[in-house]
Amino acid sequence: MERLFQGIPNDVYSSLLIHNPDPIFLLDVSGKVLDVNLATVDLFGYPASEWTEIDFKNILVPASIGDAFRLFDQTVNGEYCTGQISAYNKKRELLYLQVKSLPLFDQMEDLKLIMIVIKDMTEMIETKKELQKTVELEEALIRSEEKYRLIAENMTDIVTILDQDGVITYASPSTTHVLGFPLESYVGNSAFNIVHPDDLPSVQKQFYTLFQKKSSYDMEFRYKHKTKEWIWLEAKGTYFTDEEIGEGHLLVVSRVIEEKKLMRDKLKEMAFHDELTKLPNRRLFKEIMHRRLKEAKRDNEKCTLLFMDIDKFKWVNDHLGHSVGDELLKRFTNRVQHAIREGDVLARQSGDEFLVLLPDTEEDEAIEIVKRILGSLQKEWRIRGHSFTTTSSIGVAMYPQDGTTMDTLMANADNALYKAKEKGRNTYMTYSNEN
Ligand code: GH3
Ligand code: MG
Repeated sequence: MERLFQGIPNDVYSSLLIHNPDPIFLLDVSGKVLDVNLATVDLFGYPASEWTEIDFKNILVPASIGDAFRLFDQTVNGEYCTGQISAYNKKRELLYLQVKSLPLFDQMEDLKLIMIVIKDMTEMIETKKELQKTVELEEALIRSEEKYRLIAENMTDIVTILDQDGVITYASPSTTHVLGFPLESYVGNSAFNIVHPDDLPSVQKQFYTLFQKKSSYDMEFRYKHKTKEWIWLEAKGTYFTDEEIGEGHLLVVSRVIEEKKLMRDKLKEMAFHDELTKLPNRRLFKEIMHRRLKEAKRDNEKCTLLFMDIDKFKWVNDHLGHSVGDELLKRFTNRVQHAIREGDVLARQSGDEFLVLLPDTEEDEAIEIVKRILGSLQKEWRIRGHSFTTTSSIGVAMYPQDGTTMDTLMANADNALYKAKEKGRNTYMTYSNEN
């Protein structure tokens, strides 16, 4: 390196300038580089010989040129200045520099030189930037966690994650809000424990299919509820792979459908049952009879169809009121239910007409039941302060002798009923006119 301070002893000069760990520039008052030290050569990558020719505008980041020139001008005016400057090294890598600029005066107190001492902050700033980035990421994560926590806490859908054995590995806070048990009672325990036993076989079947097919599926089942005992849910189960441990899991999002389910059940009930007596209606009776006849054919069994009608029912309506008539229809239903057997089917055909199916029944057994029914219906009624008696008539058609199809048996039982009415009521008649 070229010697500039001729008066200064070598060793002082070297320690002051050449071997100073911080990069140092010596400029004249016009801004021309007179000398740089080894640290400057290291930092910027330009050999010492090139520095006297270097135009600072080419190595300063454009945004720093103004600051750098202001710093220089202030120093030329005799001030000690500091500032932050960004510049490029020879490889055009960005450097963040802390700059101290000192005016150096001679013995006559004339400004001789400008000494610029640099502190390379690049690494520190990069580290700081990285740190800042991490902090920002963490903050974003916290914000998103907060967001998801808020969503999870406030939603009414239940979100659970199950492992391949059905053990709950995550349950959203809403699980507690919806089902009533503390969150700890879910995590770590099998989800199958809280499924209604009647729904369990189909739920388990779907569960294992989802794992096999790695797919998703909608289902309805009941979960245990703290106060309501069981609660209907519709749920979507979706298979997913946990990226961290590479294991398959099931994400189950469930929603209470109690109202919907009740409404649906009600509609179903209305479609197949009689509102007043709650008995199966003609439609459901026909479905059941269709199945029973098939079984009778297959197993070579006999069965009997009864067509019943209350005698003079209009009289009850006319003399005691329609509501007593309604109550009589309900009590009538009760008495018939007690007179028939467990597997027999009673249905309301219409008005005061009822149907009874006696599956797997021999003729004499059927007639015995018919008599039992008629007997029970002759007893006195006590309804809303009224005591009265009624009778009923029954038409009987037997499979297979009175018909082998449902329609024939229905028509023939109706026909037999007509005959029983003709015969004076309070009696039964078989299609083959036996009594
Ligand atoms: P019969 O001995 O010939 O059977 O005479 P009946 O008076 O019973 O006459 P029928 O069976 O033809 O009439 C049934 C009556 O039942 C007609 C209708 O006003 C009445 N009815 C039908 N549905 C209801 C009901 O839901 N409630 C009440 N209270 N009455 C009904
Ligand atoms: Mg009648």
